[in-house]
Amino acid sequence: MYKTIKVVINEPLAKHLTMRVNQIANLFIEVKSIDELVDSVIWAKKKKLPFFIFGGGSNIVFIHDYPGLVIKNSTNEIKVLKLTDKEVDIRVSSGVPVSVLIAKTIEMGLSGFEYHQGLPGTVGGAIYMNSKWTKPMTYFSDRLVGAVLLTTEGKLKKVNKDYFKFTYGYSILQKTKEILISAVFRLPKVKTNLLNKITLDSLTYRKKTQPFGVATSGCFFKNISKEDQAKLKLPTNSVGYLIDQCGLKNYKIGSFMVSSIHANFIVNIGKQNSESKDLVKLIKYIKDKVRQKFDVNLVEEVEIV
Ligand SMILES: Cc1cc2nc3c(=O)[nH]c(=O)nc-3n(C[C@H](O)[C@H](O)[C@H](O)COP(=O)(O)OP(=O)(O)OC[C@H]3O[C@@H](n4cnc5c(N)ncnc54)[C@H](O)[C@@H]3O)c2cc1C
Repeated sequence: MYKTIKVVINEPLAKHLTMRVNQIANLFIEVKSIDELVDSVIWAKKKKLPFFIFGGGSNIVFIHDYPGLVIKNSTNEIKVLKLTDKEVDIRVSSGVPVSVLIAKTIEMGLSGFEYHQGLPGTVGGAIYMNSKWTKPMTYFSDRLVGAVLLTTEGKLKKVNKDYFKFTYGYSILQKTKEILISAVFRLPKVKTNLLNKITLDSLTYRKKTQPFGVATSGCFFKNISKEDQAKLKLPTNSVGYLIDQCGLKNYKIGSFMVSSIHANFIVNIGKQNSESKDLVKLIKYIKDKVRQKFDVNLVEEVEIV
């Protein structure tokens, strides 16, 4: 594998992750094809190296240096499998950026991803996280039909949508640690004008309600359940509301600050040397304050490695 893929030693991870926290990957590989992705995982297994795969790095924060191999998934394959008058099946490799997939499917007049305009990251991250948009409630996985996974034994396996057991913020990949290699979506044909309108409306709403163009990992904590909302007699299940009610907007530790626009966003306002220990302190501070005021235990949506 050394012959074909460049292995970088001691790669700084900040530039690859949207929160821009400074940690080092002992070994780092960027894969550009499905073969490279599969080979690099099998190589790490053979060498008994711990490994971690990421796509857009928009939902992860490393708080320690990583002692094994970090794999950046930049596979970029989109293929039409089946075409009828009404719908199209497409196969997408897991490293395809969501923004590219949206642009491509809209160009083809295919519905399925238009509400996710502005969602950072890749198809792999969006399926792993079961990423969503709440106006209206739609999941990135809604049009998924099936997928190919790489198992923890290094074998390729075909699964259908049911296998993922999607719920809010959850897919089975979080438990099995299998890797999404590619996914097949069945997308109905729709008028491009309508798709363009939806993407524009979604992006406009996103820009109005979320900090944009800053270093962040998006919503840091999962929203509370509707049952907990009813029990606590709260007007919303939004964790941003709870954090805001604790008076934490603009609260800062080191380079990390609770956003003034959306209190469930932690933003990194430092230019360099943002210390992960400050982020850890801020996370604990927010959780403590929300527990004291509402008796709610916040659960991280962002994965802390
Ligand atoms: C500004 C901003 C706005 C956001 N808005 C939203 C939003 O509207 N809705 C929403 O749900 N989220 C949102 N997020 C969070 C994040 O963008 C999504 O969860 C996104 O889908 C993650 O994709 P990614 O490729 O960046 O994942 P990464 O951060 O790279 O990885 C996330 C997790 O997925 C795993 N993973 C990645 N690829 C694979 C693969 N191929 N196989 C198996 N596991 C894999 C990683 O190991 C990691 O555990 C936002 C984030 C930001 C920064």
